[in-house]
Amino acid sequence: MIVMKFGGTSVESSDAIARLVRTVNSQLARRPVVVVSALGKTTNRLLEFAEHARRGELYLGSKCLNELQDYHFDVAGQVANREVLHQLEASLQRSFRDLRVILSEVVNEGREVTPALLDEIASFGERMSSEIVAAALEIGGVPAVHVDARQLILTDDRHTHASPLYWESYAKLRHAISYLSDGGVVVLGGFIGSTKDGLTTTLGRGGSDLTASIVGAGISADEIQIWTDVDGMLTCDPRVFRGGHRLRSLSYQEAAALASAGAKVLHPDTVTPAVRQRIPLVIRNSRRPAVEGTRIIPAVPLCSNPVKAIACKPDLTVLEIRPRDESDPAQIAAALGEMCGRYGMPAEFLCHNERTIFLAFKSSTRYQNLPIEVAGCVEVRLHSESSILTLVGEGIDGTPQIAARSLAALKQIPATILSSSGSKLAVSLMVPATELRRSVELLHHEFFQRIDPMVFAECPDVDVEGLQPLPTLAESGDSAVRTTRRFRPLRVVCQN
Ligand code: ADP
Ligand code: ASP
Ligand code: MG
Repeated sequence: MIVMKFGGTSVESSDAIARLVRTVNSQLARRPVVVVSALGKTTNRLLEFAEHARRGELYLGSKCLNELQDYHFDVAGQVANREVLHQLEASLQRSFRDLRVILSEVVNEGREVTPALLDEIASFGERMSSEIVAAALEIGGVPAVHVDARQLILTDDRHTHASPLYWESYAKLRHAISYLSDGGVVVLGGFIGSTKDGLTTTLGRGGSDLTASIVGAGISADEIQIWTDVDGMLTCDPRVFRGGHRLRSLSYQEAAALASAGAKVLHPDTVTPAVRQRIPLVIRNSRRPAVEGTRIIPAVPLCSNPVKAIACKPDLTVLEIRPRDESDPAQIAAALGEMCGRYGMPAEFLCHNERTIFLAFKSSTRYQNLPIEVAGCVEVRLHSESSILTLVGEGIDGTPQIAARSLAALKQIPATILSSSGSKLAVSLMVPATELRRSVELLHHEFFQRIDPMVFAECPDVDVEGLQPLPTLAESGDSAVRTTRRFRPLRVVCQN
């Protein structure tokens, strides 16, 4: 069996769903299980709806629901025929009725928008998309069985970023899918799960990739395919710099390092369930199924390029923490990581070297609320409006040359190396956020001027709809002049 996961853009319209049906049909002999994201940007819209409800904005909340309802009915109407449409519309109708009840309870009866309610609201996206896709497969001549993912994916109760209970989920998946797949292709929504008490949870933004991987491990799949809007893992995010190349293959470790450093094409935890059974993960472009994509596998061929790809996190505030006494940076970093988790403010980046700890949050995070308490006095410098770039490749192998080459390539940009002394396959740098694109372009030029054809493939100009236009070098340089980095002291509570 294989798992085929289709992301938001791969189910965003009736045309996209028709392509999905063709793609699934072409691999029927491999007995696929299909995992889908919400249609297009539905999750964003549902979370906007929740925010309107929280602010008491009845009109805006209703407007949001009406638009989402029109969108879903439109797509359903185009993919389903008359027999199926009636049932599908009744089910969609129920979902929107439930969402309107939630809106009224929040606005009129003071129901609190808790993380649990946010999960409940967000879950409707994948619940509805999976029903639409199952109907589309049936109509396309592919027998399909829809299942509510919340019955199969069990998680802890950390709402909005729940962790899967892997073994319990595997047991349920193994049993249910072997039984259901007799009836056709099993279709389920990604991203959503439930606690043992039956409360709806979500796995964090982008979590459908993780669902696919859990399903793959649960059924011991031969392959887990992630169908998305790019040709595979590229040497850099095409939204940041368009001249990247496709990687033919990557190791599990490289893929995991890239995903956690910001390569959004994979959810950071996707690799974990696949590793134990050495299941290949393959990233493919749903608009261009002829392209082979990127295979993520246990061992990859030797590569003459030490760096395989550059990942980035754009809008961050980076705390540079220096212990003044003999305190061990490793211990302090571990304590900080634990504390961020406890306060529900996961760090975007955390590493330490012999003297310094770097801890980064999204600029929007209210990190000031964190009581940074560490044993021993520390000095903290705050780097607001920063970005972190991470170069990844097994060829980096802990050598200092890559850091030196990077700094030389970025000589006109105030860049700081942040890497952990322990990391062998990654080097991270902090640059001003306004210099992100220019830095990626310069580093790309430095490390990918020549590429190993065994590992990289030329990538035609990326035709991702909605790509933001890139500023020219001159534009990004100009904005850098206007914005300088600010250094502000942060209040630090010391224990002694
Ligand atoms: P989906 O909705 O299919 O899950 P995502 O938007 O989550 O798709 O992930 C695909 C996006 O990941 C691409 O459009 C691209 O902008 C982004 N991305 C970031 N880094 C990379 C990279 N190194 N290679 C390819 N895509 C990347
Ligand atoms: N729909 C969810 C999100 O937008 C999950 C996913 O697409 O992977 O985050
Ligand atoms: Mg995604």
